[in-house]
Amino acid sequence: MTRKPIAPPVMTLTTGPVDAYPEVLRALSRPVLYDYDPAFLDFYESVNAKVQRAFHTDTPPVILQGEPVLGLEAAAASVIARGDVVLNLVSGVYGKGFGYWAARYAGEVIELEVPYNEALTAGAVAEALAARPDVAVVSLCHHDTPSGTLNPVDEIGAVVRAGGKIFIVDSVSAFGGVKVLPEDCGADIFITGPNKCLGCPPGLSLLHVSDRGWAKIAANPDAPKDSILSIADWRQAHLAGQGFPFTPSVSEINALDAALDVYLAEGEEAVWARHALTAKACRAGIVAAGMRLWPAREEIASPTCTAVATPEGVDEAALRALIRARYGVMLSSGRGETLGRLTRIGHMGPTAKPTYALVAVAAMAGGMRAMGVKGIDPGAGVAAALSVIDAAGETVLSPGAIVV
Ligand SMILES: *Cc1c(COP(=O)(O)O)cnc(C)c1O
Repeated sequence: MTRKPIAPPVMTLTTGPVDAYPEVLRALSRPVLYDYDPAFLDFYESVNAKVQRAFHTDTPPVILQGEPVLGLEAAAASVIARGDVVLNLVSGVYGKGFGYWAARYAGEVIELEVPYNEALTAGAVAEALAARPDVAVVSLCHHDTPSGTLNPVDEIGAVVRAGGKIFIVDSVSAFGGVKVLPEDCGADIFITGPNKCLGCPPGLSLLHVSDRGWAKIAANPDAPKDSILSIADWRQAHLAGQGFPFTPSVSEINALDAALDVYLAEGEEAVWARHALTAKACRAGIVAAGMRLWPAREEIASPTCTAVATPEGVDEAALRALIRARYGVMLSSGRGETLGRLTRIGHMGPTAKPTYALVAVAAMAGGMRAMGVKGIDPGAGVAAALSVIDAAGETVLSPGAIVV
């Protein structure tokens, strides 16, 4: 039986996994060193130092050897003790999902939930904490990717801190594309990964653990040890000669090294600015072309993902399939509760360049028009996106290759 292979897309404008930087792809072809080769031990320490620079933290990070779901589940398992009351903040599918892990370890999980096109507020969190002073741990998904909305993590963190609670933050799809730093937001456990805004393939979790976070883990008799879910096992692993609990993902560490070089050399402010501009141009184009954004208000729309509402009567999977087949552009669907209700355009890492917004708007508008949606004007959309880019001038465009 012969099978005709499906050609890869012309452009991957998804919300993760994302297209990788060319520098990252080259790094993946570096030799696979033995993990106890002195050169690798030295290199591993240097990569940890680069993560710490990107995090702006006083303490070294922890790298876990699996894509960020490992970091999230490990955080729940390590931090949440049997009797703990957890306040889980929910504005989307990932926030909701964290509650299921929390429930596995906690005494009780209570939730503050907003509609999945809305964002949480610090005021509502303060009220929830006032109502339940026995809460020990608060968990937040910063950017709930299947909603395309961003929560005010610094403001919420200030409230959680003031209450003396332990704060777990999932910033997997925002860190590296938005100004968010583990200590600024008061996170005790901050989880991110290189496979979103840092432009790597999936395969690692990057964590910051505060001193309070380490103390909470140490005080939890059920915190995993000698386990793939253990954070504590990796606490010293950044130091050459301390040994690894198990084999690190050598090639993924090579890729992360290259991605951090791109990020640190370009400069975080410049990186954040091009994510913001790309998303702004995209949103302007989507609206001008006659489509509707999924987030209730533009202020809460994420700079790393634009979620476009599916018009009444349109089959979202068919829309994305048409866009993929006709234009070769791969986009993301919703997930869980948002599946079928929105289409997501990723602005993450290498695709957070304004030119990609023009492609995304044209492809979305062309796809909607082909699906028979009335009132779609692709030209008006592209013109509006272009106006946003033109107004910004050349200041925020990143150097480096256009990745297609
Ligand atoms: C991508 C992502 C993760 C990691 O999960 P995946 O298995 O890669 O989907 C966790 N949290 C958020 C908010 C994410 O966007």
